[in-house]
Amino acid sequence: MKVLTAILSIMQVACHGQLSSNYTDLRYHMVGNQLTTRGISHPATLKAMQTVERHLFVPMSLRKHAYDDTPLPIGYNQTISQPYIVAYMTQLLAPKASDRVLEIGTGSGYQAAVLAEIVREVYTIEIVPELGNRAKNLLQQQGYDNVTVIIGDGYKGLEPKAPFDAIVVTAAPEEIPPALIEQLKDGGKMIVPVGPPTAVQTLVLIEKKRGKVIRTELSAVRFVPFTREK
Ligand code: SAH
Repeated sequence: MKVLTAILSIMQVACHGQLSSNYTDLRYHMVGNQLTTRGISHPATLKAMQTVERHLFVPMSLRKHAYDDTPLPIGYNQTISQPYIVAYMTQLLAPKASDRVLEIGTGSGYQAAVLAEIVREVYTIEIVPELGNRAKNLLQQQGYDNVTVIIGDGYKGLEPKAPFDAIVVTAAPEEIPPALIEQLKDGGKMIVPVGPPTAVQTLVLIEKKRGKVIRTELSAVRFVPFTREK
């Protein structure tokens, strides 16, 4: 029996590079060392960050770094954000179980998975077809049947499914696309990094309250540029 367990462990290591229980430990440390210590306290966000298998969303060769305190390349000149940034943006949206959320910039699909752990429905738009399709397959394999991945330019949002309780933009536009503000529900929140593509940008919180749009500038951030379909 012991021999069988050992063989199974070796096979698991061979397939995944590490034991999945090691990844659970790494995730536990990520939550403890990178998130709670920096002010992430929203229980559903912490639970989602503890649950989603981030290593599955990064390239195989970088899996051992999946839980490091850093963004990582995911191909096509794009990146998966640092765990803290994903948690910070999620917490700022204060998502509820009954929410319908729109994400612009699917990338690896990781932020979508974190949101899908918390809310009822996630729609996520990706402009690079290869990334969108890869994320779609991965999210399906992981059983996230409440996520819809759409390939296209997120500039116009997703009118047929609007309005949204929350919108998260994970690429930086120079100005906030007007359609996204329109598609936010009254009482809803949007988080978006705004600024020039090659410099530091500002993370902006948009809240709609009784038809009024309130803009709060938060911290300095660095995101990949928001691109447009030709
Ligand atoms: N949320 C992602 C981070 C991806 S990086 C994750 O968790 O991994 C930002 C992504 O936004 C990139 O994949 C980029 O291709 C995409 N993007 C940039 N401009 C876009 C646009 N106009 N519409 C949709 N996606 C866009």
